[in-house]
Amino acid sequence: MISSHGYAATDTTSPLSPYSFSRRDPGPKDILIEIEFSGICHSDIHQARNEWGGSMYPMVPGHEIVGRVAKAGSSVKKFKEGDRAAVGVFIDSCGKCANCLAQEQPYCESGAIGTYNAKDYDGNITYGGYANNIVVREDFAFTLSPKLDPAAAAPLLCAGITTYSPLRHWKVGPGMKVGIVGLGGLGHMGLKFAHMMGAHVVLFTTSPGKVADGKRLGADEVVVTKNPDELARHKGSLDFILDAVSAPHDLDQMLAMVKLNGTYCMVGLPEKPVSIHPFSIVANRRSFAGSMVGGNPQIQEMLDVCAEHNIVADIELTSFDKLGEAWERVVKGDVKYRFVLDLKTLPRS
Ligand code: NAP
Ligand code: ZN
Ligand code: ZN
Repeated sequence: MISSHGYAATDTTSPLSPYSFSRRDPGPKDILIEIEFSGICHSDIHQARNEWGGSMYPMVPGHEIVGRVAKAGSSVKKFKEGDRAAVGVFIDSCGKCANCLAQEQPYCESGAIGTYNAKDYDGNITYGGYANNIVVREDFAFTLSPKLDPAAAAPLLCAGITTYSPLRHWKVGPGMKVGIVGLGGLGHMGLKFAHMMGAHVVLFTTSPGKVADGKRLGADEVVVTKNPDELARHKGSLDFILDAVSAPHDLDQMLAMVKLNGTYCMVGLPEKPVSIHPFSIVANRRSFAGSMVGGNPQIQEMLDVCAEHNIVADIELTSFDKLGEAWERVVKGDVKYRFVLDLKTLPRS
């Protein structure tokens, strides 16, 4: 077995603390990655605090992983020792169902295996990237161009693909007016991608202090949603809206922004069920949709597009001794715009 150490949540309320565990020895199709950087996603907090239910402890969160290959199995093709490798939200899926064959692994009919807080096919609990290493099948690991800063690229593995995938699915491009709701980790990547794709981009934020950043990150216009006059100007005018908000909020107010035949897509996953009035979708024949991460080939495509267009996350590099503070700031919406843990700061076990 490979010995690993990292930080784990032991229950819904205690701060994360050092935790030692073991991972399987890499098989022929596996790589062992020495992790260098691990992004902090709001999903880590939702799950550590059991806000979605079904959490398993001890839980080592982290699904925005970048590191170097320390060992490559005998039939591994994409990687050799020393290469950079990246891992995202899932580390396996059945590979046989219609959705897996369509390369839509997150939608595996028998359930894709989460990078952490999941049971692997061998029955063991999976542990994520707040740790010194990870063992993963090469099919669920991705190559990273040396052009990309590895720390700032880590959030592409969740915040990046989760926004890139729906923008591609709904064919966002020139001539379209596209909204991004919530300027956090996902939202700021959504702004960058929608701008790159050539849309007219409108940021909807609750934070007046984020207006200037919103424009810098790719918004053509910024609406502070607490101001009804600003909202009224965009009523019924957007082709597509991506909602990346982590807490309950007024969806009827936001759906009213969508034009005839337009789509409102949720990627945010607040802990409580959302409510919408049927009139909000009957009007303008709107579609209310959702999207989860993205398939493996699309993750690689997104990473390659980012290298070509020089797109990475805006990050605050942080350390394990400040992890609790970083999580509190994420919950308060006070992060610019993604925390990334530097694994050099992980205390030796
Ligand atoms: P984040 O960095 O905390 O950003 C969330 C943003 O939502 C905040 O910055 C804030 O933006 C806005 N917000 C927070 N509380 C709000 C409230 N009460 N009312 C209105 N707006 C509020 O979180 P994240 O890491 O980007 O994740 C966002 C959500 O996506 C989380 O629920 C996460 O679990 C989920 N997620 C889903 C997928 C998927 O596959 N679908 C993948 C990853 C994450 P403003 O200050 O601009 O208002
Ligand atoms: Zn995530
Ligand atoms: Zn499957």
